[in-house]
Amino acid sequence: MMNDLFYVFLVVGIGMSVARFLFRRMRAKNQYHSYLTLEEYQQRHPHLVEQGAAKCFECQGSSIDTVPLGRTFSQSNNIHICRHCGIKLYRSESAD
Ligand SMILES: [Zn+2]
Repeated sequence: MMNDLFYVFLVVGIGMSVARFLFRRMRAKNQYHSYLTLEEYQQRHPHLVEQGAAKCFECQGSSIDTVPLGRTFSQSNNIHICRHCGIKLYRSESAD
């Protein structure tokens, strides 16, 4: 009787952990896709992107940090953040 209850709790606990893990992953993916790609950023701010190098639309700074946000099986997802004002500018994928 006690043992049955233990296994019920164990299975429910594992189930909830898996659900939480999948939810977080899904949320990270949605968050990532809410940022513009460099192409979209360029379409929105044509004067700020030259030869693949972007500038910040907020402070015009050209020092951009690349921060990995997560990865899938074959690539890394990056967010590009202005070093000067910390604003998130656009996203990119890099293959390994
Ligand atoms: Zn900036």
